[in-house]
Amino acid sequence: MNIEFSERLKQLPPYLFGEIDKAKKKAMDEGRPVIDLGVGDPDTPTPDIIVKKLQEASTDPSTHKYALNKGLRSLRVAMAEWYKKRFGVILDPDTEILPLMGSKDGIAHIPMAFVNPGDAVLASNPGYPPYISGAIFAGGEAHMLPLLKENSFIPDLDRVDKSVAKRSKLMHINYPNNPTGAVCGKDFYARTVEFAQKNGTIVCSDAAYTELSYDGYNPPSFLEVPGAKEVGIEFHSLSKTFNMTGWRVGMAVGNAKVLEGLGNVKSNIDSGIFTAVQVASIEALKNSESIKARMNKVYTERRDTLVDGLNRIGWIVDKPKAAFYVWAPVFGKYDSAALAKAMLEKADLIITPGNGFGKYGEGYVRFALTVGVDKLKEAVERIRRSFFV
Ligand SMILES: *Cc1c(COP(=O)(O)O)cnc(C)c1O
Repeated sequence: MNIEFSERLKQLPPYLFGEIDKAKKKAMDEGRPVIDLGVGDPDTPTPDIIVKKLQEASTDPSTHKYALNKGLRSLRVAMAEWYKKRFGVILDPDTEILPLMGSKDGIAHIPMAFVNPGDAVLASNPGYPPYISGAIFAGGEAHMLPLLKENSFIPDLDRVDKSVAKRSKLMHINYPNNPTGAVCGKDFYARTVEFAQKNGTIVCSDAAYTELSYDGYNPPSFLEVPGAKEVGIEFHSLSKTFNMTGWRVGMAVGNAKVLEGLGNVKSNIDSGIFTAVQVASIEALKNSESIKARMNKVYTERRDTLVDGLNRIGWIVDKPKAAFYVWAPVFGKYDSAALAKAMLEKADLIITPGNGFGKYGEGYVRFALTVGVDKLKEAVERIRRSFFV
């Protein structure tokens, strides 16, 4: 039998990490001393107090059943309390908070609720791949909002083609940004609200990295600006903040009608988050301040080690104010894929080529700060030996 993938699956952008994934596997198999700066997945374990709570909750049989629609009310209340304390944003736990199986769950599925064939979905680029794949799965047209260095990696909404703007149903923005490490102020969020009101666009703010920040900087929430809740929602996640990527817990918060649509889609697809994981997530949110302080100290030391080290050997890169990525311009004759390949071949380092995040990522490579200081020092030394002598 001839088995063919659907048109929508065939329409997805090509997977650009293929070649580097193969080369990585080969280097590992050969036993080379590879340092992996590629994956945006915290290397340190989930804090003990969260793991202990899961152990305890998992022995209670009432956690073993399907989680009802929106899960434990106590989790939604804990999420509301956290948003209030952290951002001063007031949310109704019954209508303005929807727990997710990781924020990717919500980001990928939301177009199903609002996008019709021919509608446009705006997505900042370089960016997280589900912004585009979600739009394609729903039959929408993905349009990129370029993040350019000369605009501090913030989209210029005045440059969006007027006819595309009018057809846009959704817009994905993401600060602190993966992969560029850029941050934005509330002025950009205010311009986004204006754009959304003018064009009838639902704003989806991906805030996965607001809790990883440096030098006392506190990234704002989109929902802090007036009018935000009328036009959109914010996705947040326990993944990066609490080293819980594998647990699959996130949230969508904000506009009740938008969340109702997303909830209706999800109730046809999944059956909620394991209740014991929800109980442990409450524990995480209640201890957020101490966990955040500890993690940010770790990442600050790593950021300084890598950025100061690269600048010292002559590779001039900016120090990010938030998130755990360093976005470095390519040098010499390399484009992003060639530089990533050369890093692996000459220095046994895995980094991510910027074009893997879309065409506006060309010209850059991304380092993830997900290895310890000693390995980062070693990485800088290998780069110096291989490229800067
Ligand atoms: C890691 C990440 C997320 C979080 O994904 P989860 O599904 O919550 O684990 C969301 N957005 C971006 C840009 C990310 O890098």
